[in-house]
Amino acid sequence: MAEKVTPRNVDYSRWYNDIVLQAKLADYSPVKGAMVIRPNGYAIWENIQQNLDRMFKESGHVNAYFPLLIPESFMQKEAEHVEGFSPECAVVTIAGGQVLEEKLYIRPTSETIIWSMYKKWIMSYRDLPILINQWVNVLRWELRTRLFLRTSEFLWQEGHTAHATYEEAEEETRKILEIYQRFAEEYLAIPVIPGKKTEAEKFAGALHTYSIEAMMQDKKALQSGTSHNLGQNFAKAFDVQFQDKDGQLTYVWATSWGVSTRLIGALIMAHSDDRGLVLPPKMAQQPVVIVPIWKGDDEKQAVMQFSESVFQELKEKYRVIFDDREQYKPGYKFSDWELQGIPLRLEIGPKDVQKNQLVLVRRDTMQKQFAERQGILQRVEAELLQMQTDMLEKARAFRNANTSEVDDYDTFKKIMENDGGFLMCHWCGDPACESKIKDDTKATIRCIPFDRKKEAGKCLVCGGESHGRVLMAKAY
Ligand SMILES: [Zn+2]
Repeated sequence: MAEKVTPRNVDYSRWYNDIVLQAKLADYSPVKGAMVIRPNGYAIWENIQQNLDRMFKESGHVNAYFPLLIPESFMQKEAEHVEGFSPECAVVTIAGGQVLEEKLYIRPTSETIIWSMYKKWIMSYRDLPILINQWVNVLRWELRTRLFLRTSEFLWQEGHTAHATYEEAEEETRKILEIYQRFAEEYLAIPVIPGKKTEAEKFAGALHTYSIEAMMQDKKALQSGTSHNLGQNFAKAFDVQFQDKDGQLTYVWATSWGVSTRLIGALIMAHSDDRGLVLPPKMAQQPVVIVPIWKGDDEKQAVMQFSESVFQELKEKYRVIFDDREQYKPGYKFSDWELQGIPLRLEIGPKDVQKNQLVLVRRDTMQKQFAERQGILQRVEAELLQMQTDMLEKARAFRNANTSEVDDYDTFKKIMENDGGFLMCHWCGDPACESKIKDDTKATIRCIPFDRKKEAGKCLVCGGESHGRVLMAKAY
């Protein structure tokens, strides 16, 4: 029998780990802080990669590869950047049996090495824009590991673009955030709130940072993608200037943006249940499993023949699992595929064969329905589409039900201590009030939502003037 997943209401954090381990998505590695992504988890990552990569390319971006190792002197060129990243960097000091003359940092992110190259490649306005992305691993030393959510080494994409004007860089920064939002909602079925980060929460070395924020089932926020307008900071640090149309020398404007394997953690926490993983159909490499059910050879022949024909028909469009393992009972197979989050299960027994029908079970609702054999491909198609939409709407309804406006600090503290959730509150803009909230409650300002309405109010902490609400929550 399979191990049991710890129910969410017993221990949310164990529930999460149970799913990651039992659905064989990832495992702990011999090196503390690192993780092994197993084939089931890596298939999800490949799916994320393929879809995002297509969206990046459709918007004019191209892929390249920059080295893993970054000279120490590069890291030190941008003051805020080095201050932000140094504490979590791993550094190579010996290689080939020799102490290196200059230490080499394992990339925590690649702005510095990339801008050292842009200096060689950018001379004139004709060389702009550069719209490069890379799919790589990065390393940020971390001892408190949570599989997918927080590991030292993780996989991500990092886009690094170079532009002639502030406006262009700003447009790019926002365009990418829109791609991230579209991807999160259309593919991951996770509704997100896009907005601007506060000064305290922005990327080290950025002019400003935008993010998308999602709510998990424990009502905590998970930052699911960031896009930074880096201004001219990196161009100045690496002396990257270009000659504009009038022959004037100007520093280049930069952006960077990324999403990582964290998204897999978000996917698990936003949708899964006490039976295991629940995957939106677009994120499942194999969205359908067929389980034939029979006793004795007579039944077997009829059921297998019928099942095989369904398999052949569906195979034209989907990657289908045909579970004809004889060493397992149907009940075991059901819970096995439920744990692994296969979106649609088709059960075929002798009675179904007689009636020329099959039983169809959707993983998100666990609802059983009959489907006619004829037109099964269209029916499966329709169910998967509906499931994708329903999962997004369910997550949105959950988030909305757990979002409220709060104007009083005592109430705020009480809610953060007990139920949690997204609280929309007034804030005066003073970092001191922001850090007091963090110290008192562990909640942070997740973002200043783009679509917030103009509304006069008083800061939750100091009573100072505010022009609109910000999103506050505890976060991963
Ligand atoms: Zn204040």
